[in-house]
Amino acid sequence: MVKRSRKTKQKELIQSEIATFTTLFTADDLYERLRKKDSTIGIATVYRFLKEIRKKKALHSYVCDRKMIYSKEKNNHCHFICQKCDTVAHFNIEKIDFLQSKIHGEICHFQIDVHGICEKCLLQENNQ
Ligand SMILES: [Zn+2]
Ligand SMILES: [Zn+2]
Ligand SMILES: [Zn+2]
Repeated sequence: MVKRSRKTKQKELIQSEIATFTTLFTADDLYERLRKKDSTIGIATVYRFLKEIRKKKALHSYVCDRKMIYSKEKNNHCHFICQKCDTVAHFNIEKIDFLQSKIHGEICHFQIDVHGICEKCLLQENNQ
């Protein structure tokens, strides 16, 4: 029988734990869960693993609320951020084909941050 190293076992544990997430998650979410199963696991190992599988396009990352979030699904992530009240609204865009000609490479997923003034703040402005 092949003896598996501690490193391999930890990788397998991280992999199986990622598989249980059905929504977006952060490295901290993952780390919290892992620590309950293996207290010797370090956050650096978690980050290294996330980076590794992201390279293989098995994981996609976005920045949301100043945090890096991960998704197993290849989704797109778009924000409309109000410059007055900092409210962040999520919205969806399916295609960015028009960008392909500007990009020298292959598009995997995308994140768009649109800044402006939200409806609520616009109403307040008009009522003043
Ligand atoms: Zn991706
Ligand atoms: Zn977001
Ligand atoms: Zn606003």
